[in-house]
Amino acid sequence: MYLYNSATHKKDEFKTHTPGHVEMYTCGPTVYHFAHIGNLRSYIMEDVLEKYLRYAGYDVNRVMNITDVGHLTSDADEGEDKMLKGARREHKSVMEIAQFYTDAFFEDCRKLNIKRPDVVQPATGLIDDFIKIVKKLEDTGYAYFAGGNVYFDTSKLSHYYVFNDHDEEDLAVGVREGVEEDTNKRNKNDFVLWFTKSKFEDQALKWDSPWGVGYPGWHIECSGISLKYNGEYLDLHCGGVDNAFPHHTNEIAQSESYLGHPWCPQWFHVAHLNTNDGKMSKSKGEFLTVSLLEEKGYDPLAYRWFCLQSHYRKALVFTWENLDNAVAAYNKLIARIAALKPEGEVEQAVFDEYKAKFIQTMGNDLNTSMGVTAIFDVLKAKTNDATKLALIGDFDQVLSLSLLEKAAKVREEQAKAKTAQAAGGEYTVTGEGDPAIDALVMQRYEAKKAKNFAEADRIRDELKAQGIEIIDTKGGASWKRM
Ligand code: AMP
Ligand code: ZN
Repeated sequence: MYLYNSATHKKDEFKTHTPGHVEMYTCGPTVYHFAHIGNLRSYIMEDVLEKYLRYAGYDVNRVMNITDVGHLTSDADEGEDKMLKGARREHKSVMEIAQFYTDAFFEDCRKLNIKRPDVVQPATGLIDDFIKIVKKLEDTGYAYFAGGNVYFDTSKLSHYYVFNDHDEEDLAVGVREGVEEDTNKRNKNDFVLWFTKSKFEDQALKWDSPWGVGYPGWHIECSGISLKYNGEYLDLHCGGVDNAFPHHTNEIAQSESYLGHPWCPQWFHVAHLNTNDGKMSKSKGEFLTVSLLEEKGYDPLAYRWFCLQSHYRKALVFTWENLDNAVAAYNKLIARIAALKPEGEVEQAVFDEYKAKFIQTMGNDLNTSMGVTAIFDVLKAKTNDATKLALIGDFDQVLSLSLLEKAAKVREEQAKAKTAQAAGGEYTVTGEGDPAIDALVMQRYEAKKAKNFAEADRIRDELKAQGIEIIDTKGGASWKRM
């Protein structure tokens, strides 16, 4: 596999410390609010990466933190603690907020077919390990105590800006106007490893330490959690591009100074999901969640499809129109798969040929849009339906779009609609030639017939969200795209 590596600024051949085994780390969510669909873009692409590695034969150990302490409102050391802000907003304790939004995050992941990492570790569960690392950094001269906090001394490193192709805007994170400079810092980029003093409201969660009662900085948690569960040699580190600086830069500084040897050679950064007003962010307060998409009648997997259609290193603009187009394409694909008949024997030579192409395509810097196109190539292939279905099921181990399950559901609905037609006589659906939509219109009719008007309305709304209008006719219904 070739993967773009932010540390070398080029596509590198993917290598691991132990042949055939990948130690993978992902920066997890800060659980003070729901994840927005931008955060989830990063997790979807990282999920595809993990699944591709497994598909290509690697054994993977994937570790993720849950940030439930220490992440301040600027990604550097200024501002309030995000968790405290969330707790105040909802009149709850920090731990209640953390539990609620951690559960909500994994529920969103479930709906998006994002696999749970092998290890998920909340930062508050590993404080002793962080203290041990900070202590060693202090003992070896990489850290100093000043004004109540322990800082990492970036001047001790021969190179600090490891991802220095990031633009000014990325590097300016935390250097925000109106934020006072911390005069305890010896160098501008020094960062806090352990806080006992904050200019802001006091933390609810605090632990005893050699420097006094306090709490860890945000960056140390990822180093600590990865060192514990991935070991001393990490193969692949993932996160959204905003994490590259200062978060990942600081993780490298701490981990390598602590270990005394290189730590992680490969860095995978996902570009942002933007709206027409700019980057989607939790701190802006207004953002889109999976639940909101569902309320509007969208299938969360249509959002996954939307994400897979573009490359992870390109910024992706979210508009409702773009999502509607994705929904239409996703449903059309499912309808085409539903029309395949599981008959005949799988033609092994064809299967192997298309599988090899898929591995190669996805192995070229995780080209998911070409990976999706590979399904259309299978549909057009000169082979029987059994082979096509086998290939689609095989690719979907990586893409996770539930293609076969959804197609089976469409077939079921079609069969039900046929039976209803035979039993009830004349109710017919005419439309623009999409069996999946025909089936939904028929389902609405059945719901109405059973006096389940709420369900009938829900289906109408779901179709409306997809840009489809139902027109009731004398002997049935017809539908059209608005
Ligand atoms: P947070 O919960 O803020 O710690 O972020 C969780 C993950 O989402 C991190 O990997 C971020 O880099 C990533 N992220 C934040 N905003 C966006 C966005 N608009 N698009 C894609 N990824 C994002
Ligand atoms: Zn992290």
